[in-house]
Amino acid sequence: MGKLEADSLELEPKLIAIRRQLHQHPELSNEEFETTAAIRQWLEEAGIRIAKYPLPTGLIAELGSTETGGPVIALRADIDALPIQEETGLPFASVQEGKMHACGHDFHTASLLGAAFLLKQREAELKGKVRLIFQPAEEKATGAQQVLRSGALDGVHAVFGLHNKPDLPVGTVGIKSGALMAAADGFKIEVDGVGTHAAVPDAGIDPIVTAAHIVTALQSIVSRNVSPLDSAVVSVTQIHSGSSWNVIPDKAVMDGTLRTFDERVRKRVRERFAQVIDGVASALDTTARLHWIQGPPPVLNDPLLAGLGKQAAEAAGLEVVEPVPSSAGEDFAFYQQQVPGLFVFIGTSGTQEWHHPGFTLDEQALPYSARFLAQLALDALESEAIIRTGETAVV
Ligand SMILES: [Zn+2]
Ligand SMILES: [Zn+2]
Repeated sequence: MGKLEADSLELEPKLIAIRRQLHQHPELSNEEFETTAAIRQWLEEAGIRIAKYPLPTGLIAELGSTETGGPVIALRADIDALPIQEETGLPFASVQEGKMHACGHDFHTASLLGAAFLLKQREAELKGKVRLIFQPAEEKATGAQQVLRSGALDGVHAVFGLHNKPDLPVGTVGIKSGALMAAADGFKIEVDGVGTHAAVPDAGIDPIVTAAHIVTALQSIVSRNVSPLDSAVVSVTQIHSGSSWNVIPDKAVMDGTLRTFDERVRKRVRERFAQVIDGVASALDTTARLHWIQGPPPVLNDPLLAGLGKQAAEAAGLEVVEPVPSSAGEDFAFYQQQVPGLFVFIGTSGTQEWHHPGFTLDEQALPYSARFLAQLALDALESEAIIRTGETAVV
């Protein structure tokens, strides 16, 4: 057993205690005040310096230095919870009514703290600077942009992040070059008709019939306009219209989401959306308005960093597996638009998918994820390719 592995196992009880404390006190996006205070305290107790960036919630800390000319790499964890009533029955279940760490961001926070403790023990050996990003508001897909605006990614040569993955066993890490998670856009469609008596439809214009045709026609974009070798998901998730059995209403409103793994496909589907909605609405004598809610882009992993990640995983005693991409979104993708990045899935042997009220994970995954991040940071600071990226950036 290597020293890093031994140190990570020694930390395990502490990391479990941290994760449970966070789990019991979940806070929603942009409300992570107590979570931030707790993270600050754990870091300060370990002698890790807090960096000053203007973030109302969330926190940036740093280890090492660039005085020797080494690069800066960033490790990121998200810290927010979801508006879900927990149903796990765990002894450390959420004490906050209607709030739950149902995406495992408590696990991510504890993992990054673990990596920070491991790296603190090795701070003198660091060949550059490690910036620790405890990011707020991932679930609203706005936190990464807040961090970017704060300047915390300035000067960073490579950024790394992870998500727990219930369907991968503890001890494994899913690492993949290219697209790992989807662009997650939202939409709202408003259809205007003319209300009338349900028995006299010809005296009005029925928006519900139009809405029904739009739902069906939108699926034809995926089947007819997206190549069979590419993929896209269009889901209409809400339809609201009418309030009585014998009245044709004057309006129908629909909401939904589009998921794509490729910017080209994303653009094409969006174009077709507007055309299909306009066309169907006008064919049925109605008008419709499309409101597009631009979400995070796809998570696109740098091939070189994926290679580095695989090496680090093996050195840290994790088994590397090829992950199946997820059509969920992740605002880590915004960082990857600025600097090369790698996002991985850490196996947590869970029984439920993300965002389920019964979501759980196996805490034995904590030392694995902590030492993987620590090893990755150590290796990245010595990576010739990353150092070269830095030189180019300086020029
Ligand atoms: Zn989530
Ligand atoms: Zn998540």
